[in-house]
Amino acid sequence: MTGHVLEFLGETKLELGAAADHGDNWRTGRDADGILWLVLDKKDSSVNTISEDVIRELETHVKAAEEDMPKAVVIRSAKEAGFAAGADITSFDAMSDEGAVDLLKQGHEVLDRIEALPCPTICIVHGAALGAGFELALACDYRIATPGASFGFPEVQLGLHPGLGGTFRLPALIDPTEAMTMMLTGKTAHTKRAKSLGIADKVVEERHVAAAVDAAADGKIDQHEQGLKARALGFEQARSFAARQMRSQTKKKAPKEHYPAPYALIDLWEEYGDDRKEMQRGEIESFAKLLKTDTSKNLRRVFFLRQKLKDAGRGEDDISHVHVIGAGAMGAEIAAMSAIKGKRVTLGDVDTDPLGRAVKQAVEICKDKHLSGIETRDALDRLMPDPKGYGISRADLIIEAAPERMELKEKIYADLKGKMKSGAILASNTSSLSVDKLASHAPSKSRFAGLHFFNPVSKVDLVEVVQGDATSDKTAKRLAAFCGQIGKLPAKVGDYPGFVVNRALTPYLMEAMVLMDEGVPKEVIDTAALRFGMPMGPVTLADQVGLDIGLHVAESLRDNLEKPMADISQTLRDKVEAGDLGKKTGDGFYVWSDGTPHPDSDREAPDDLTDRLILPMLDACVEVLRLGVAESEDQVDGAMIFATGWAPFRGGPMHYARARGVQEIVEKLKELEKAHGPRFTPDEGWQTLG
Ligand code: NAD
Repeated sequence: MTGHVLEFLGETKLELGAAADHGDNWRTGRDADGILWLVLDKKDSSVNTISEDVIRELETHVKAAEEDMPKAVVIRSAKEAGFAAGADITSFDAMSDEGAVDLLKQGHEVLDRIEALPCPTICIVHGAALGAGFELALACDYRIATPGASFGFPEVQLGLHPGLGGTFRLPALIDPTEAMTMMLTGKTAHTKRAKSLGIADKVVEERHVAAAVDAAADGKIDQHEQGLKARALGFEQARSFAARQMRSQTKKKAPKEHYPAPYALIDLWEEYGDDRKEMQRGEIESFAKLLKTDTSKNLRRVFFLRQKLKDAGRGEDDISHVHVIGAGAMGAEIAAMSAIKGKRVTLGDVDTDPLGRAVKQAVEICKDKHLSGIETRDALDRLMPDPKGYGISRADLIIEAAPERMELKEKIYADLKGKMKSGAILASNTSSLSVDKLASHAPSKSRFAGLHFFNPVSKVDLVEVVQGDATSDKTAKRLAAFCGQIGKLPAKVGDYPGFVVNRALTPYLMEAMVLMDEGVPKEVIDTAALRFGMPMGPVTLADQVGLDIGLHVAESLRDNLEKPMADISQTLRDKVEAGDLGKKTGDGFYVWSDGTPHPDSDREAPDDLTDRLILPMLDACVEVLRLGVAESEDQVDGAMIFATGWAPFRGGPMHYARARGVQEIVEKLKELEKAHGPRFTPDEGWQTLG
């Protein structure tokens, strides 16, 4: 149990039964004032999830309350991690159609009974109340939040919508369009916003929770009232109008054929938004149906891929001081993220300007991550510009993020010799140089590795931990654990041109250039990739990454891979030569000065366009698996999704290959090879995939 919850319960002079006395997951008891406390403390877990047994046990406690009505019922969590993370996703796969409906009905019934209790029901939320956790909170009369609390419905990210009453309880509580936006986007409402929306009735420091509970139990806290808009949306016509707008907004982000859940939710709300009973019936039916879609199955797979990578990032926390060399695009954000996550960071550069910019950027990242004033101040206190390199001798980890030039990196490593703390690791953020070659210049080969972050570091979750021939397992493990500690997902990969992600992504970018050289308009190319489900077309992506960086990586891959690559486009070279480098200079293949391009073209595209873009990526994935550069198909899928946003509803490139059929893909590659050349020759690894 958390320190603060224990302390708080101590103050209420409440003797809570151990969870085992009553069931497995709830600690319960009545205090001297006759308030019934239901404290969720999920068995064998540091996080609460709302599983079948949690609901079943809750039902017995609700029954006890119905039979002997308390003054009030308080629901809260005993976990440090927060209120509750949502439903137990592990159980979804096993559910049959009928099983899902029955289970949902049982859950609904328990929450309806909580809602119907004649005494005040109060939910105290610290940390996150997500999905079914949020739905449990919504079934209560009052929600008291402590600072840092957040509320959200991430179900859309799993190809679902709320399934335990959220679809009608949230729109009934707050402005229905805000409620729908939360459910359609999966965006979380942090404390302040939750209060202003009317989700949280009160926000109080932990030490004032007891007083707030007393006030709520005595009916002295005002409950949120809906405004005029909610009444207007009670009318079918107004709802239909709003629903049309929601559909067109949603279409921009998530086409219906790939992501059916948001559309199912809009349909439900449009049809039954003024009829709670029908909405409830519709929600259960629709949720059970969505559970069975490929999209939801694949997105749940993505959830587990994330868990697996997270697990790879667990380990000893023995890196407390990080020194970053180079405060440019990458180094600045690596330093900021490390400081935000509690590391002491020194940041060096040959120039002072980048150091000043890096501190400003860190402030922006803190804002973006909703850090409080105090948290921001603490993070900035930990981030120390260090032009003289005092941190070098104190750091447990040095991350080199200097420009991508071998001789420059060699010199930096030579300067580090004899200066690093004993046992410290040196890691390079290189994206295209050989880790093994770099290692030969490092102070210690066994304590040298690649640590390949992606741009922008604050937004991209994946980091490739590149284990060279001489990198010790211990070093790789320590680096993976460091990634986990700064909130990143590590993928341990081997030293290979482009490692895994750039190896797979580069042919996609290069093929787009070849297509443009053949006369296919860039909008047509990008539209094909977007329709496949990529978050961004390859031409837009090339501009975003920077055409100079793209060209550099492509040249390095072409020079170092055994397989033939597409010829590097002359237009690409010309653009780089002219200084039109994409987003960062305002001009690339697209003009960026007016904002991010949104290509959408209905012009006719070559029949094999999508396969020409996508299949070389799959082929490269098979190649890195065959060579042992990547550990497993799951790891490759996770790496591609969390580094590039690779069509998540398809479950990852290898999962897509398997779903479409290995044989079919090999045949298609052979056709493409005949039509366009040996860059499409299927990798021999396909044969062993089966
Ligand atoms: P950048 O040019 O934005 O920043 C490099 C910084 O290093 C500059 O501020 C420069 O002043 C500083 N510097 C130069 N020489 C130095 C020295 N001797 N000591 C200390 N600092 C020095 O470069 P970047 O884009 O941040 O790339 C850094 C590394 O990260 C490269 O190896 C690159 O391949 C890799 N990388 C870049 C990206 C990307 O998209 N930019 C993505 C992944 C990896």
